[in-house]
Amino acid sequence: MRGWDVVIVGAGPAGSTTALLLARAGVRVLLLDRARFPRHKACSEYLSPATTAVLERLGAGVLEQVEGAAHAKLYGMKVVAPDGTAMCGRFTSGHGHAPPRPYSFALSRAAFDSILLRAAQREGAVVHQGVAVEDLLWDGGTVAGVVVRSGDGQRATRNASIVVGADGLHSVIARRLGLVRTSPPRRVAFTAHVADVAGVDGVGELHVGADGYVGLGPIGGGVTTVALVVPLARVQRRARDFRADFFTELERYPGLAGRFDRRRMVREVLATGPFAQWSRRPVADGALLVGDAADFFDPFTGQGIYAALRGAELAADSLIPRLTGGADAPISATTLEPYVRARRREFAGKWALERLIGVGVGWPALTNRVVSRLARRPDLADLVVGATGNFVPAHRVLAPGVLARLLL
Ligand SMILES: Cc1cc2nc3c(=O)[nH]c(=O)nc-3n(C[C@H](O)[C@H](O)[C@H](O)COP(=O)(O)OP(=O)(O)OC[C@H]3O[C@@H](n4cnc5c(N)ncnc54)[C@H](O)[C@@H]3O)c2cc1C
Repeated sequence: MRGWDVVIVGAGPAGSTTALLLARAGVRVLLLDRARFPRHKACSEYLSPATTAVLERLGAGVLEQVEGAAHAKLYGMKVVAPDGTAMCGRFTSGHGHAPPRPYSFALSRAAFDSILLRAAQREGAVVHQGVAVEDLLWDGGTVAGVVVRSGDGQRATRNASIVVGADGLHSVIARRLGLVRTSPPRRVAFTAHVADVAGVDGVGELHVGADGYVGLGPIGGGVTTVALVVPLARVQRRARDFRADFFTELERYPGLAGRFDRRRMVREVLATGPFAQWSRRPVADGALLVGDAADFFDPFTGQGIYAALRGAELAADSLIPRLTGGADAPISATTLEPYVRARRREFAGKWALERLIGVGVGWPALTNRVVSRLARRPDLADLVVGATGNFVPAHRVLAPGVLARLLL
């Protein structure tokens, strides 16, 4: 007996969804998070349209609870370039790919993540909150569990046949496995909830500036989530805490000036980063990574929650046969190879697109050019927004003819 079948570290969308699917299959799951839920998360809080299909597949009343929570419906994405040119892509279009619904959901991560966590609990996952994982336990070269520290400072060990690292950007599990890689652009984000923002309607907005960008969109109840993303170097150069100048920074963007009432901030500014960070491989002997712990490049395209949920489905597909077959043997990286391949098949296009766009928005002249092309070609704007919404295959945008029309 090796303790738990699986210990999952992190109860965000990736961890809770993996826990839900494994527990439903009869796997003995321990789900750990250092936070206590509901907890906030620095995020623009938009679920890309394809996420709705995953929520529907999850069952357990998850989609109904999202619909029943305070939320907004977004029908597309607007991008404003540094020179003020604006384009808007709609989720429903004539490109031949339809999202599950004509809109996507946007809601507070405090609410969304709690819905998933409770669903995992209902399926039988045992959840311990306020417990930080500090290290891995090893049996030879194979991961055999985790070392945890609870709120009162007590340390303990939890053994498992496999440890799933779903502990987000800066994952302890990925670091302890020695798998972490970073690359430019190194950016950090500051996010807040602001009530009664002027001019917010049924689309998400991305405002690109000379050295950063702002994402904003409604999340229901008259609240807008606002995310300011800037190069790490800019934050390091400044003596003052960037959070104190949050609204002053927003006013530098022409499309945002005058739209905020500083007294209407209803949740303090959360900081996160730097990204980009990912793991060289999402598996090791006795361990598997999912969600941001496996890969997080940049938030511009808003695909992280979808990738966390879809990645969890792929992880569960690979783990269930190994954890329910009766064998108590350690799970080697080689036996998890189908997960590696499935991720590559599923996400290769997304990885290319989000890297292209994430790097591109760091170049104002390039952004001006691409946005002005898209403003003149609404069909292409819809195609790009559909691909970043995960329901149009990325290769439709990455086709040489399309790229040439956007760039040349
Ligand atoms: C500014 C910004 C805006 C974004 N906007 C969007 C958007 O609009 N749409 C979208 O789809 N994606 C967006 N993303 C990305 C999205 O937030 C992530 O991709 C998503 O949260 C990944 O889910 P996850 O479960 O992998 O990780 P997380 O949601 O980060 O969950 C990780 C969990 O692990 C826990 N944890 C961490 N370390 C430990 C430890 N040592 N021990 C125990 N528990 C631990 C944390 O408390 C947390 O609950 C945005 C990201 C940023 C930074």
